[in-house]
Amino acid sequence: MSDHTIAFIGLGNMGAPMAANLRKAGHSVRGFDLSVHAAEAARAGGVTVAGSLEEAVAGADAVITMLPAGKHVHTVWQALVGLVAPGTLLIDCSTIDVDSARAVHAIAEAASCPSLDAPVSGGVGGATAGTLTFMVGGTTEAYDRGAPLLAQMGKRVVPCGEAGSGQAAKICNNMILGVSMIAVAEAFVLAEKLGLSHQALFDVASTASGQCWSLTSYCPVPGPVPASPANHGYKPGFAAALMLKDLRLAQEAALSSGATTPLGAEAAQLYALFDNAGHGGRDFSAIIEMVRGKDVAA
Ligand code: NAD
Repeated sequence: MSDHTIAFIGLGNMGAPMAANLRKAGHSVRGFDLSVHAAEAARAGGVTVAGSLEEAVAGADAVITMLPAGKHVHTVWQALVGLVAPGTLLIDCSTIDVDSARAVHAIAEAASCPSLDAPVSGGVGGATAGTLTFMVGGTTEAYDRGAPLLAQMGKRVVPCGEAGSGQAAKICNNMILGVSMIAVAEAFVLAEKLGLSHQALFDVASTASGQCWSLTSYCPVPGPVPASPANHGYKPGFAAALMLKDLRLAQEAALSSGATTPLGAEAAQLYALFDNAGHGGRDFSAIIEMVRGKDVAA
C-alpha cells in the first residue's frame, strides 16, 4: 500500500502533517495550497509542492482535500473533476456542512469518481502523530479503496454509511461534546458556590451517572485530570473557535433536516459569546470562566 500518487489540496495546520505522513508511508505526494506560507511548511515536511491545482492532480490516483469550509471544497472539487481521470478517488477530510458534503459527492459521481467524506477528530497533535480518527461516508467501493490510505494518517477509520454520513457523525459527536462541556462547567461552578471541592465532585461524578468525556478526560478545572488544558492555562487542545464552527454546522444541519436541538442551539450561542469576547483561540473548556461569571470581555 505504498505505491499511490496522491494529490493533497490544503496544506494548513492539519493538511501539512497529514500529507507528510502519507509521504512517510511511501506514497508519491504532491501538495497544493493557495498560501505560500502553508506550502513552505509542507515542503519542510517532505511533501512535493505543486504550483497549481492542475499540476498537483496530474496523474494522481487519489486526491485528498483539507480545506476551511464547504464553499472551498465545492470550488476545488468542481475544478478538479475536470482535471482528473474517471475513477480517481476523491476524499474530503475537511469539516464541512452535510449539505455541501452531499453536493460535492454528487459532483464526483457525475464525473465517475468514487468519493468519501472523511472528517477527522484528533486535532493538529493527532494529524502530526498519525493518530487521527476518521469518520467516513460514501459507497462501499470508495470506502474499500480509501480506508487503507486513511489508516496511514490515523489510528481509527470508522465507516458511517452513505454520502455525508461522516460529516453527520462528526457534528453529532461534537454537539454532544459542546453541550456536555458546558454541563460539566456548570456543575463545577455550582459546587464552588456550595463549598464542595473540585476533587470531591470529580471523585463522585467520574464514577457515577454524571460521568462523561468532558469530565474524565478533559476536566475544565485544574487538578483532577493533570493532562487537561485547565492545568496548562487553557492552551488548546481544541480551540473554542473550532467548537463554535462545529456547533454552527450542527445547527445548520438541524435546520435543514427539521431536527429539534435546543441544547445544541444554546451551546452555539454560549460559544459565540465566548468567541466574540476574544477567546476563540483558547481551549473550549475555558468556557467555565464565562459560566463562573468572570469578566471575559476582550
Ligand atoms: P487551515 O486554515 O490551517 O488550513 C486550510 C488551508 O486551506 C489553508 O492553508 C488555505 O490557504 C488552504 N486553502 C483554502 N482555499 C484553498 C484552495 N482553493 N486551494 C488550495 N488551498 C486552499 O485549517 P486547518 O486547521 O488545517 O483545518 C482544515 C480543516 O480541518 C477545517 O475544515 C477544520 O474545521 C478541520 N479540522 C481542524 C482541526 C484543528 O484542530 N485544526 C481539527 C479537526 C478538524
